[in-house]
Amino acid sequence: MLCLHDSIRDDDPDMQRLLRTVEDAPSLPALILAAWQVARVLAVHLVEAVLAERARRPTAWPPCPTCGMSLQSKGFAPRQMMSLCGPIRWQRRVGRCSKGCVIPQVAPLDEALGVQPHQRTSDEVQALGCALAVFAPFATAARLLGWSSGGTVSPRAVWCWVQAAGQRAMEQLHEQLQALTQGHLPTEEPLTAGLAVAPLLIGADGVMVPFRPEGGHPQGKTAWHEIKVGVLARLGQHRTRTGQVVARLHQRRLVAVFGDLEALKARLWLEAVRQGILHAPRVVWLSDGARGLWHLFEERFAGHATGILDFYHAAQQLWKGGGGVARWPHDPGPPVVRLGPTPPAAWPTRRGLGRPGRGLRLAALARHGVGHRAHGVCVSRAAPRAHRL
Ligand SMILES: [Zn+2]
Repeated sequence: MLCLHDSIRDDDPDMQRLLRTVEDAPSLPALILAAWQVARVLAVHLVEAVLAERARRPTAWPPCPTCGMSLQSKGFAPRQMMSLCGPIRWQRRVGRCSKGCVIPQVAPLDEALGVQPHQRTSDEVQALGCALAVFAPFATAARLLGWSSGGTVSPRAVWCWVQAAGQRAMEQLHEQLQALTQGHLPTEEPLTAGLAVAPLLIGADGVMVPFRPEGGHPQGKTAWHEIKVGVLARLGQHRTRTGQVVARLHQRRLVAVFGDLEALKARLWLEAVRQGILHAPRVVWLSDGARGLWHLFEERFAGHATGILDFYHAAQQLWKGGGGVARWPHDPGPPVVRLGPTPPAAWPTRRGLGRPGRGLRLAALARHGVGHRAHGVCVSRAAPRAHRL
């Protein structure tokens, strides 16, 4: 059992200096930041104490990968790792083949801890760096991470971690897609009882996103490419403080691919199965009038979902037809959306009142409009959310 008092080592001059800084801190923020430094040093001592205790335990040596003989201890060797608490140092036994086979030295404790050979930064630091890089440029993410870990992090390091994490994610996804084609369904994400009976909404569209013209180089003109995006969510209800019941999306999931609709189809189906499309009491597919998206719907989702044309595209068809119903843009089949009894003279938009197709860019409306409650396609909120992402 670890003794906290042993870890504090209050006779350590460095710790004395940190404790004095805490005592002398004039303001509350200065007090908290000074105490945070003490906590960081204390955490390092605790982690190092645990590692030292584990390193003293007897080592079970694996066989030599070349000759099969048991490896032999060559004594303790130092190891260092940058962690969220600061640099962690420990000693652990390393072994080599007793017959002299040319193999890298083996450290069973490192393997037990999940530490890779030559790894210099701990996984939790890399994970935080990757998460920050999702929302901020690499240089900003590196700066923020340096503030969190108390060290210096280079933007290049964050970039490399993101590349490695992306590679692992791609391999994992590839394995899951392979398994799905062979009939092995993925495990469904657990849902609360309330969400399990809520309708599952699936939407898809294409969005233009900026790319660097050359990978790894910020110079040059921005290159815009289309990304295929799918969104999945459960449609729940929420009662506001005034007692009004409003729709609310839960369990939002996003699928995106830099590729064609075939690539999106496989990924979206994988995620749809994971989100319970095979057991949801009601499934709704929502998209704009793009022919390819409706082919995708017919091929993969029509057996499980009801298709709904995006509100503004339905409105466009209705406006053109002058009747009370809208049809698929490319299909002479039955009507798919029934709107109000008569179309209003002007359609509400965020930019004011106007008519679809007359002086208003329909694509912009479909992407950013919020629909009109009276015409009941509230699920169209799913698409703007995807665009904001
Ligand atoms: Zn050997």
